[in-house]
Amino acid sequence: MSRSLSQCVIKLHEEHHALEDYQGGVPRWCNGCGDNAILAAMQRLCSEEDLAPENTVFVSGIGCSSRLPGFVRSYGFHGVHGRALPVALGVKLGNPRLTVVVAGGDGDGLSIGAGHFPHVVRRNIDITYLMLDNRIYGLTKGQTSPTTPRGIWTKTAPHGVIEYPMNPAGLALSYGASFVARGYSNQTKQLQQLVMDGIRHRGFSLVQVLSPCVTFGRACGFDALAEQLKEVPETHDRKDSRAAYLLATDPETMYTGILYEDDRPELVEVLQQQGGTRGRELDDSGPAIDVERLIGRFS
Ligand code: SF4
Ligand code: MG
Repeated sequence: MSRSLSQCVIKLHEEHHALEDYQGGVPRWCNGCGDNAILAAMQRLCSEEDLAPENTVFVSGIGCSSRLPGFVRSYGFHGVHGRALPVALGVKLGNPRLTVVVAGGDGDGLSIGAGHFPHVVRRNIDITYLMLDNRIYGLTKGQTSPTTPRGIWTKTAPHGVIEYPMNPAGLALSYGASFVARGYSNQTKQLQQLVMDGIRHRGFSLVQVLSPCVTFGRACGFDALAEQLKEVPETHDRKDSRAAYLLATDPETMYTGILYEDDRPELVEVLQQQGGTRGRELDDSGPAIDVERLIGRFS
């Protein structure tokens, strides 16, 4: 082997990131919690796709699932309750070269954070939002969340939940999201592919991930999933938003897979076309977006 080729092989070896490179800290979730499997899938994804840790950011709010950034060795931002999406928006605008993944729960994203969801969706910023849906507030020990099924007993509904549950995938579709998918923590191979497809998609992507809370969410209907789960039919037209909405909100079947995907202008591209950049090519010398100029626009 010539010297230059061996140097090249050594360089390639050095640049590939192994699974251990993304394993940061021992997860503190309960044994059997769906979030453990989701974390492992995300670390495998990072390694297999060789997402450089220094160019990857996991952002979260507050809740059991929002602890995820603390267990991935990459950049991370564990924010305040319900504010993961605006933080992620700021991170991506500050440096559009980064891969930005948001991890948060149904309570964080659809209760206190619900006001941010439609507005980040309609800006079509190129981030991926994993909504880890366990249908309960786990961290605070079992209160009704926006996706808790109707009729079950929780600590805040001693006579049974009276509200109708929200549907994360259906909501994202109604807000006009350009990529919407649904996965399940027990189907990690499919989940890994869905998240990768979401990351590759240019624009906002939501992946609702059903993730059972084995400690406080036993009554939340996950036992019935085995009979309800079905993959999105191959005949489904992913560009048909009405068909996607019908699949997302089907009362009998919980469809997993990509429900909707559309190619449309992404926020940073649009801002660059409008002159919102510093007027130069993306390089390593600083933010590609004039952040100060945008503060008024997005605050
Ligand atoms: Fe997971 Fe529930 Fe335990 Fe939280 S309380 S770590 S959601 S099983
Ligand atoms: Mg929850």
